[in-house]
Amino acid sequence: MDCLFCKIAAGEIPSTKVYEDDKILAFRDINPQTPSHILVIPKEHIGGVDEVTEENAAVVAHIFAKIAEIAKQEGLIDGYRVVSNVGEHGCQSVRHLHFHILGGKQLNGSMV
Ligand code: AMP
Ligand code: ZN
Repeated sequence: MDCLFCKIAAGEIPSTKVYEDDKILAFRDINPQTPSHILVIPKEHIGGVDEVTEENAAVVAHIFAKIAEIAKQEGLIDGYRVVSNVGEHGCQSVRHLHFHILGGKQLNGSMV
């Protein structure tokens, strides 16, 4: 499958890794929108939030447990935002499930 984040997960395309284990990878966004902008992905291919099911949701729980740890490690003590864009209306540009961790400054109160 020609999927950018599958290739990053496999180490075929380099990334600036922040956290990795057998199930997930966190790396810095190549085009950061905030001083700290990290992407967290499952290593298995899931297209997006719209492809999360009861069968594959355990990795999403694992991702969220690690997001809390990563944010602490990143020093985001005053808070941050977790975002996952879905599909065309959500402006998802990479069709592999990922969660953005956005922080390091006061974010806009408007979500859209
Ligand atoms: P989204 O638009 O929500 O699908 O997010 C995709 C994100 O992936 C964007 O914020 C891009 O800047 C980021 N991105 C694209 N290619 C790379 C890459 N090679 N390494 C790190 N981040 C990337
Ligand atoms: Zn993929």
